[in-house]
Amino acid sequence: MPGHCSVSIMELSAVVFPHLAAVRIERVHRMGATVRVKTATMEPKGECPACGCEPMRVHSRYERSLADLPVAGQEVLLQMRVRRFFCDNTACAKRTFAEQVPGLTSRHRRRASGLLSMLRTVALALGGRPGARHTARLACTVSRSTLLRLLRSMPVNHSDFRGGPEASIICWRKGERRHDASPEEVPPRAS
Ligand SMILES: [Zn+2]
Repeated sequence: MPGHCSVSIMELSAVVFPHLAAVRIERVHRMGATVRVKTATMEPKGECPACGCEPMRVHSRYERSLADLPVAGQEVLLQMRVRRFFCDNTACAKRTFAEQVPGLTSRHRRRASGLLSMLRTVALALGGRPGARHTARLACTVSRSTLLRLLRSMPVNHSDFRGGPEASIICWRKGERRHDASPEEVPPRAS
């Protein structure tokens, strides 16, 4: 017999998926070890990334897959139905563009923004290979090279580095031979 749940679906999704507040959750189901969350975007339509015009015409719709933050130790895959719009500004070089959900998606990314942020934190703390092993335990497995690519794309903030693996990474990012940084190379702790 199914158990009773006195919590509404709205309440539950607001707690478990707070970062999906801007999209409509249509279905949540498990396939193997992965939780699949089917979503669709809602109004507003956003704006052309090149000229800022608000789009008037839908070009097409398609499904986009994004790895998301794990839930209760389970991998999560977002299957998001998104729209592609025409840009009707004749002075704009862009003919069409795909909508983005602020704080959740970004162009050409196959991972949700929250997951990217978590992976960057792992990469900064542990580096490539140990970081990749750790992501498997966190149910968001990525390769060493993915973590290193994320590090390379980050702006360098010297106050983030205290020595240890991070110091090695900052030296590597500066194009130097990878090695453990000497104390003089490690930026002083920010006060
Ligand atoms: Zn435009």
